[in-house]
Amino acid sequence: MKMGMSYFGNRYVECARNHLKSMKEMGASYVVFTFSENDFFYYERTMQELFDVAHQIGLEVWVDPWAIGGIFGGEAFSKFLLDNPNEWQMRNDNVRVPHVCLNSIKFKEFLKKVVDSIASSNTDYIFWDEPHWYIPQWDGVSDDSLWACRCERCKGLFRKKYGYDMPVNINDDIVDFKKDTAFSFFEEMSKYAKGKGLKNAVCFLPIENEKNISVPYEKVASLSTVDVIGSDPYWYIFGKSVQDFVKPVTERMLEIGKKYSKEVQMWFQGYKVPNGREEEMRKAVDTMYKLGVRNVAVWAYNGATQMSSLRSDNPRKVNEVLEKIFNEFSAL
Ligand SMILES: [Zn+2]
Repeated sequence: MKMGMSYFGNRYVECARNHLKSMKEMGASYVVFTFSENDFFYYERTMQELFDVAHQIGLEVWVDPWAIGGIFGGEAFSKFLLDNPNEWQMRNDNVRVPHVCLNSIKFKEFLKKVVDSIASSNTDYIFWDEPHWYIPQWDGVSDDSLWACRCERCKGLFRKKYGYDMPVNINDDIVDFKKDTAFSFFEEMSKYAKGKGLKNAVCFLPIENEKNISVPYEKVASLSTVDVIGSDPYWYIFGKSVQDFVKPVTERMLEIGKKYSKEVQMWFQGYKVPNGREEEMRKAVDTMYKLGVRNVAVWAYNGATQMSSLRSDNPRKVNEVLEKIFNEFSAL
């Protein structure tokens, strides 16, 4: 079984070498490096050195354009958004929200430069992590009538396509418009990355929500440029169980993967693990394995212990269990 770990929070190459070695010893076959805008602007060469070290150690290198533009998952800020307030999504109450509009040509050009940087260093996969439109609840907004994007650019494109002004209240045409936009975005970006020699892996959010996430999972999975699809049903933070969350989301991804002949990669949660529930990680991986998944990754290396906002109640115990999981399942 192919096993991976995400890695972030350290940019000291020699220190990373030790971490990557221990990953490999544990049974990992690949590492997913986060690549934030901060990395792109200030650590570009360092990141290339890290990728080289991972390869030297025998790990496949996956790179995650982390939280870039505020439309992917990740605990990182966006310089692009600071520099380009006109490219933000516009909510239907005319408030700009700090997530880039997926119709922003300027952003797509920026993201291509990020892809160039990632591809320039002999990396294997680009990992598109949790793509989504503005999700009100994630920004602490509970008003369910709010949505984005209704910027001038989107309004113009909508009118051209549907022949009437984009309404303030969401309707089926807007949902279709958002899904089509997200699809076109991935069609363009995955094709671009492929052309640069990268394989594309997409991690869909574990909940399908047409109104706000608005990414058509099946359509994106059907793209010939997409190699791997998957999801990250993090049951602890969603307040759910392995059985009620990991299982159905895994089944859904396997169904899509089978339909479009794509490898399925599933993530399990190794951060914010509540005390005494560490063994559930093993149950999650076992569930994925038994359903037929052969590519599983954990977020994150060392249980993300270095990031206090993600730290588990008992990091030592988490790491003991993680090590056992990697040893055991990587041998299958
Ligand atoms: Zn827009």
